[in-house]
Amino acid sequence: MTKKKSEKKSNGRLQSDFITLTSHQLRTPLSGVKWLLELLQSDGTNLNKKQKDLLQKIYSSNERMIALVNDLLEVSRIEAGESKLYLQPTDLAPIIRGLLKEKEDQIKKKRIKVALIVEQEPLPLVRTEPNKIRQALGNLVSNAISYTPESGSVSIALSVQDGTILVSIKDTGVGIPKEEQKQVFTKFFRGTNILNFETNGTGLGLYITKAFVEASGGRIWFRSEENKGTTFYFTLPIA
Ligand code: ADP
Repeated sequence: MTKKKSEKKSNGRLQSDFITLTSHQLRTPLSGVKWLLELLQSDGTNLNKKQKDLLQKIYSSNERMIALVNDLLEVSRIEAGESKLYLQPTDLAPIIRGLLKEKEDQIKKKRIKVALIVEQEPLPLVRTEPNKIRQALGNLVSNAISYTPESGSVSIALSVQDGTILVSIKDTGVGIPKEEQKQVFTKFFRGTNILNFETNGTGLGLYITKAFVEASGGRIWFRSEENKGTTFYFTLPIA
């Protein structure tokens, strides 16, 4: 290996160690803040509305920081090759129903119509790690909701296709600009068309999602048209 190459590699390693270390060190105080905020909010009788609103804002910022640190940790695990999946037969439909239940408030607030179409029930099980695929599906469903303006629709479909289950998540949102589509699965990518529309986000969700789908032996791709909508597709092998 040339000197430059080995330097580059050890820089990469150092960077990854740095991220892992700082992420772990950040998680403890952030969880502490979360716990204290929950305590304050639960004892809210002495707080006026303005104080409660402020507390809610601090809580949301802290949650965003926790999500960022978790994503950075996941990325450093993937890059270090430590993100091994424990594959087991998994039923996708209940995972999606659970996610939609969790996001019910956000869906109602934005008046988004959501449909889940399961081709046949029970659907054959797929080979993946349930928690990881839950995170991947959570990213895709969250994106569909976040990047779709009020009163739009999101439709999720599950079907059997050539020994795999094909999952599609279609929205009527802002879409991804054509010239940026090549970068969608790269780290920290955020579309120029959403920067004002949705300020929350790390640009790490799709990078992690792709890694989890591929580590399960699946494939992921998308079609998108600006101001019309986006559909993400992925497959997972049937168990
Ligand atoms: P984040 O959502 O945190 O920014 P992601 O990696 O999940 O990060 O997505 C990267 C970017 O891809 C988003 O910032 C957005 O520009 C674009 N994107 C992803 N999903 C959609 C979607 N359903 N509709 C429009 N743009 C999307």
